[in-house]
Amino acid sequence: MTNEAFFKGLKEGIRHVIIYDVKCENGHKFEGWFKDRQAWIEQNAQRLICCPVCNSSNVEIAPSSITIMGKDAKTADKNNEKDIPPGKALQWLQQFIENNFEDVGNKFAEVALKIHYGDEEKRNIKGTTTSQEEASLKEEGISFIKIPLPKMDS
Ligand SMILES: [Zn+2]
Repeated sequence: MTNEAFFKGLKEGIRHVIIYDVKCENGHKFEGWFKDRQAWIEQNAQRLICCPVCNSSNVEIAPSSITIMGKDAKTADKNNEKDIPPGKALQWLQQFIENNFEDVGNKFAEVALKIHYGDEEKRNIKGTTTSQEEASLKEEGISFIKIPLPKMDS
């Protein structure tokens, strides 16, 4: 699969399902899969989301995500549409990122800018950003994608 097809499929897939890291009142973290944000709000309001560990329905979203920028993310190939089933996209994504993206940690914005201006070699990078950094990246016309963080319980 080419990068273009991957990113295209990825965007399609993510539109179909969102995955939140959910945390219960006792600090247990688990993944919640929802059709959209509204589904989360409705299910949570009806206390339908229970912690698999302690069964508590007093849960909230634990904010965690990483930001990625692929060297081919900008160009989508219209002739190569792939139908990725919801859920699969994220598995692929996590595997793909694991294997193909260099982790630059909290230097994401800095490195993305250097790549953008040709100071550093074009490559796939992943890392974390603040909302301020994201805003300035957008101003520079740099395209990036935010994805839910794979489970990394320490
Ligand atoms: Zn719990």
